[in-house]
Amino acid sequence: IPVQGFAGKSVAVLGMGRSGQAAARALQAGGAQVVVWDDGQAGRDLAEAAGLVLRDLTKPASYAGITALIVSPGIAHLYPAPHPAIAAAWAAGAPVDNDIGLFFRSFATDDWDGFATTPRVVAVTGSNGKSTTSALIHHIMAESGRPAQLAGNIGRGVLDIDPARDGEVVVLELSSYQTDLARAMTPDVAVLTNLTSDHLDRHAGHGGYFAAKRRLFAEGGPDRAVIGVDENEGRYVANQLSQGPGDDRVVQVSSGQKLTEAAWSVFARKGFLAEYRHGRQVGSIDLRAIAGLPGAHNHQNACAAYAVCRTLGLGPRTIEAAMQSYPGLPHRSQLVAERNGVRFVNDSKATNVDSAAKALQAFARIRWICGGLQKDGGLDALLPHLPHVAKAYVIGREAADFARQLPGIPAEICTTMAQAVALAAAEAEPGDVVLLAPAAASFDQYDNFEQRGADFIACVAAQIADQPG
Ligand code: ADP
Repeated sequence: IPVQGFAGKSVAVLGMGRSGQAAARALQAGGAQVVVWDDGQAGRDLAEAAGLVLRDLTKPASYAGITALIVSPGIAHLYPAPHPAIAAAWAAGAPVDNDIGLFFRSFATDDWDGFATTPRVVAVTGSNGKSTTSALIHHIMAESGRPAQLAGNIGRGVLDIDPARDGEVVVLELSSYQTDLARAMTPDVAVLTNLTSDHLDRHAGHGGYFAAKRRLFAEGGPDRAVIGVDENEGRYVANQLSQGPGDDRVVQVSSGQKLTEAAWSVFARKGFLAEYRHGRQVGSIDLRAIAGLPGAHNHQNACAAYAVCRTLGLGPRTIEAAMQSYPGLPHRSQLVAERNGVRFVNDSKATNVDSAAKALQAFARIRWICGGLQKDGGLDALLPHLPHVAKAYVIGREAADFARQLPGIPAEICTTMAQAVALAAAEAEPGDVVLLAPAAASFDQYDNFEQRGADFIACVAAQIADQPG
């Protein structure tokens, strides 16, 4: 989509990854003159090959005549020190923004006036469940005959979407790497799934991380908000946004708490979703019947997606019917094989301790493949769930250190995925789940969590081929 508001002006773009290139193209399509820079020679070569004008953006003098600096999400830009190009832009008085800010500038929709007139933008953020919630909203919309597009962290780059039509819903998944710098975010509906600690290295600790997420809910931002209130941070954001007890601008979401007092709430209890408005139950769904959303954590995602679809005008029965056909996402509680009563589940996306804890909660007797590049904060949040673990098979370069932090359960250092899968498969008994839920990043052994999940799937397939049941 062409970026509005910069026709005839000069704009600088920092970083020539996928989103930087898309930003440069979208700005040009909107009539802007674009200059670009990348810290690496490879990025600069790419820019030249694409016919873009290079300028060293790390010097304040480079900003003469420049209206804004657009920064790619992959660039560690504020902490521990601002990137030199950002410091230079500040020194020269040029505003700093990113592709999400450009998107909202170009895609501003009117004030809330009900569904089905102009395109609607739903923005989803939070620590865990963003992709699942975004994909589920998109799925429900599409299944109910409403055109929808998925973009951001999942799906296409935000500036690569098709121009949206009337009545269409654009679902954006936004990480803290994107919400921290975008100047103005004005979605029709903003979602906070939950908030625990992640990416602390980039955001100067938990405070900075929460501040980055909270920017999506700033005054003048979303028309409606769907907020997970099981943590203090969510309650804080919900209270800040509502204008008193009768205000249904905020839909409160919980997995576990009965929120019957809120003006508008959707919560899951004992496998059932319930929707309350002003003290009266107006909708319910039996979530246990929905195969694509196993576990309490997915019930939280289901509640958030349900709430969004309700704000967009769908009825409870329509949403329930669409959820039935939700296929799930790869690498998130993905059942990859079942052999002699043993299930093999790929949750490679459990890259932090909290998401792994949810995965452990979802199954009764687990042969747990874990480990990788550890994140700050330690493994303590996993301890309450260790009773579900029959044995841990620890992978990764720091396997020994990881295993030391798991008291009271048998843990074996396997280092590689192939060893871990072979051993776990050999020792598993009928009813066990062999679960990859690493509670760590993958970068010590893999390019990303997708590659790690694919390796798990390949190792499982090899095991099953070796030991016909
Ligand atoms: P994100 O896009 O926020 O990383 P995903 O939907 O991709 O979220 O899920 C990431 C991991 O977090 C999955 O492996 C899953 O086990 C776990 N998870 C999913 N939803 C939730 C939730 N609501 N709360 C906690 N953990 C969750």
